[in-house]
Amino acid sequence: MIMEEKHISVLGSTGSIGTQTLEIARAYEHIKVRALSARSNIRLLEAQAREFSPELVCVADESKAAELKVKLADTPVKVVSGKNGLIEAACIGGADTVVTAVVGISGLEPTVEAVKAGKNIALANKETLVTGGHIVTKLAEENNVKILPVDSEHSAIFQSLQGCRDKREIKRILLTASGGPFFGKKRDELKNITPRDALKHPNWDMGAKVTVDSSTLVNKGLEVMEARWLFGTKNIKVLVHRQSVVHSAVEFCDNAVIAQLGAPDMRLPIQYALTYPERLPMKGNELDLFAYRDLTFEEPDTETFFALTLAFDALGAGGIMPTVFNSADEAAVDMFMRGKLSYLGISEAIEKAMSKIKNIEEPSLEDILETDKAAKEFVFGME
Ligand code: NDP
Ligand code: MG
Repeated sequence: MIMEEKHISVLGSTGSIGTQTLEIARAYEHIKVRALSARSNIRLLEAQAREFSPELVCVADESKAAELKVKLADTPVKVVSGKNGLIEAACIGGADTVVTAVVGISGLEPTVEAVKAGKNIALANKETLVTGGHIVTKLAEENNVKILPVDSEHSAIFQSLQGCRDKREIKRILLTASGGPFFGKKRDELKNITPRDALKHPNWDMGAKVTVDSSTLVNKGLEVMEARWLFGTKNIKVLVHRQSVVHSAVEFCDNAVIAQLGAPDMRLPIQYALTYPERLPMKGNELDLFAYRDLTFEEPDTETFFALTLAFDALGAGGIMPTVFNSADEAAVDMFMRGKLSYLGISEAIEKAMSKIKNIEEPSLEDILETDKAAKEFVFGME
């Protein structure tokens, strides 16, 4: 099959999603890399730049950028840094799609600028839609760009919706959750959880922040808010599905439920976002349904994992509350990882920030960035 060339910019190319995106680019000749970016891992970024020959690489950390500039002096690759550099990478001429695989709200501004520049977005950075969903989806419509989900659940929903011509046919979204490493435990059993415990995920190999978020169900909460913007409904049901085989489903008005199943492997949703509407062959990791005796579905324990209830509260309140939820969590996870906050303290910090900070309806980008700062300062202030 001869494929039309695809030109991508990868924001966060040294991370879990970023490296798997490059695995796909390595496998498919027609996928060309125009820009790469990392926060500080210049050793890997240099290797990636030499392999994929992008025009530009961005390093968020300025002093590391200077170091990389010296290392890449024998190549034509331009090295930029900081927030403006990330925006330059997101808007690079010649790229048609931006893979947003940075972690946290740092993905929001570059994505907004990329959409304004007419780039399609392969969206892994859920924080973008959680905080600025109303802005990004409106801009995407105005600029006629696609937002293609990379998050496995949202990709599953998107795949299940192929062939659905009228969104009013969707009754509800069935969002599956693995339940994380502490499934079945009660609150008092979680008091002494350490970062090491929280970094062990049963089914997925992901970056540290999203792994901790998966264990608290904050990640599922963020995904509920992400789904709201991607699929235009707040009617979302979370189901704990320990095997991570059914990646999510859509229930339609005639009660049909269409789901996407597969082995837990992020390369499929990443690849589908890059090749949509086509499907291309993928080596390895076929789903062997005979290997699973049972596929189980359970209600989440929202008494223990109360962050999920807070996420639904934020979804219901709308406005700036999803940003407060997200940013309080970013700060709280950071503190937890440094041993400055207990495990249950993460969800408690979100709860406190949400009750402390007043809602703003239809927040502007500036409101979102200010609230991000305020929520983080509030949580860091608890140290
Ligand atoms: P990682 O922590 O593995 O990677 C993050 C990447 O972003 C790295 O390249 C990192 O650079 C870079 N980065 C981090 N902070 C900044 C910053 N402030 N400015 C610029 N670049 C930065 O994360 P993941 O790949 O796991 O996750 C990325 C996004 O994808 C998250 O939003 C996550 O929720 C989402 N996601 C991830 C999944 C997964 O399986 N991993 C599944 C579904 C969604 P460096 O290496 O130098 O630190
Ligand atoms: Mg997910």
